[in-house]
Amino acid sequence: MYGLMMNSPLSIASLIRHADRYHGDTEIVSRLVEGGIHRYTYTDAHRRSRQLANAFRALGVQTADRIGTLAWNGFRHFEIYFAAAGMGAICHTINPRLFPEQIAYIIDHADDRFIHFDLTFLPLVEQLAPLCPGVRGWIAMTDRAHMPAANIDLLCFEELVNAHSDDFDWPALDENLASSLCYTSGTTGNPKGVLYSHRSTILHAYGSALPDALNLSARDVVLPVVPMFHVNAWGLPYSAPLCGAKLVFPGAQLDGASLHELFEAEGVTCSAGVPTIWLGLLNHLKAGGLRFGSLKRTVIGGSACPPAMIRSFEDDFGVQVLHAWGMTEMSPLGTVNTFKNRHLAQTKAERDALQNKQGRVIYGVDLKIVDDDGRELPRDGKAYGDLLVRGPWICSEYFKGEGGNPLVDGWFPTGDVATLDQDGFMQITDRSKDVIKSGGEWISSIDLENTAVAHPAVAEAAVIGVAHPKWDERPLLIVMKKPGADVTREELLQFFEGRVAKWWIPDDVAFVDSLPHTATGKLLKTRLREDFRNHRLPTA
Ligand code: ADP
Repeated sequence: MYGLMMNSPLSIASLIRHADRYHGDTEIVSRLVEGGIHRYTYTDAHRRSRQLANAFRALGVQTADRIGTLAWNGFRHFEIYFAAAGMGAICHTINPRLFPEQIAYIIDHADDRFIHFDLTFLPLVEQLAPLCPGVRGWIAMTDRAHMPAANIDLLCFEELVNAHSDDFDWPALDENLASSLCYTSGTTGNPKGVLYSHRSTILHAYGSALPDALNLSARDVVLPVVPMFHVNAWGLPYSAPLCGAKLVFPGAQLDGASLHELFEAEGVTCSAGVPTIWLGLLNHLKAGGLRFGSLKRTVIGGSACPPAMIRSFEDDFGVQVLHAWGMTEMSPLGTVNTFKNRHLAQTKAERDALQNKQGRVIYGVDLKIVDDDGRELPRDGKAYGDLLVRGPWICSEYFKGEGGNPLVDGWFPTGDVATLDQDGFMQITDRSKDVIKSGGEWISSIDLENTAVAHPAVAEAAVIGVAHPKWDERPLLIVMKKPGADVTREELLQFFEGRVAKWWIPDDVAFVDSLPHTATGKLLKTRLREDFRNHRLPTA
């Protein structure tokens, strides 16, 4: 017997319609690439999204066509999210920090019909255009007055919007239809497309807004530093209208000073980004003796958040850190670190230690860890193994079947190695490919990196395994020092004593001027492993 409840399909257009109707005067504020600040409301955003949907129709965009973007976080990008998905097309956000050849591959693989771009990316677009013959139009996200001279034909975003009426009824769509597309940065092999649906997006927006997740509400002012091309800015452009939160988009200026100024000017209460971004902001605050006036909490994920960063936010600045973990394949949210009642009775030291974990699973995601033979390991917080996930916002296969069936007995293998406990707290010990295998035992590169960055002279650190005749692999610590700071190899190695098991202490230290990062801000360990392939450890 079926239940007798309405079968209303979950749809992305319903988010912006809801925000317009019930939070119509709530603001969306954007720092513009052209200079200055743009300010309007959810009602304006909804109206212009409908105009843009009409413009897409006039351009011949069909259901399921891919509409690409090479853009920062801003109001026009937000409108494309809703106009494209709302009319039944697919918003394909492209990471502009990838190599042009990689971007051309992605555009071609996705069959993008149109590409929108912020003016910053004009040189990139001029390079891409000859490589992407399938693209019918390149749309500059600006007004006529700021249209640049270019060596290819361009369309003007504002002209497209203004040429059309807002008389557009969002079509009723099957909730399982595709709504957006994002490629994993793929440190090995070709990038693979993750194709989200209306249903997965709405369920993820619900789940991520919960009090024990991002705790979003109509009283929040949300500034996503995480780019809209990095897993849909972790879903914030959807969860903010779902709650009626004010949105603040930082555009291209992601340095500490620009961010702090915007946080203060707009009364930002909640933000989200990868650890490298926060490093710049914290340094700026400390150097200038500045404070946060309104910021209550920030989500940090994408790579392990160094404990020193969590402590600095919380103890120095009174800002709660929500250490979170997820993947492009998971829309992205899987776990968020929030306490249960019993933890509130613990000592601060115990709570601090707990916060270093990647967090507690949110409803909608199921986790398990398995050993090399696929046998499930206990949820005891000690056993560690390959982490597998499943749930309605987790990818079941890649776009166009790329890479074959990724699932193992219906579970998605994350490539992470982790522990799991009874409360659902998960701690990543490593990416499976980054684990250092020393004499048959595993050493966590993340633990060693976290220890290294706790040293006052260390700005950033990476640990990789280097070949060793006796132990197979031993850890090498690669360090970028803070400007003006000094520390020797011996002092650093001594710093590890008593902080990690003796046999975990790196065998050597290399100092570098900068560390390589992926397009989503993670340490690029494949490059480091290449660069240091012939490094001779003094212990070898
Ligand atoms: P990519 O495109 O590089 O795969 P993702 O954002 O999808 O980008 O990367 C997901 C991976 O990032 C996870 O599998 C995990 O290894 C790592 N990661 C994400 N958040 C964290 C975190 N809080 N701590 C440690 N690693 C993390």
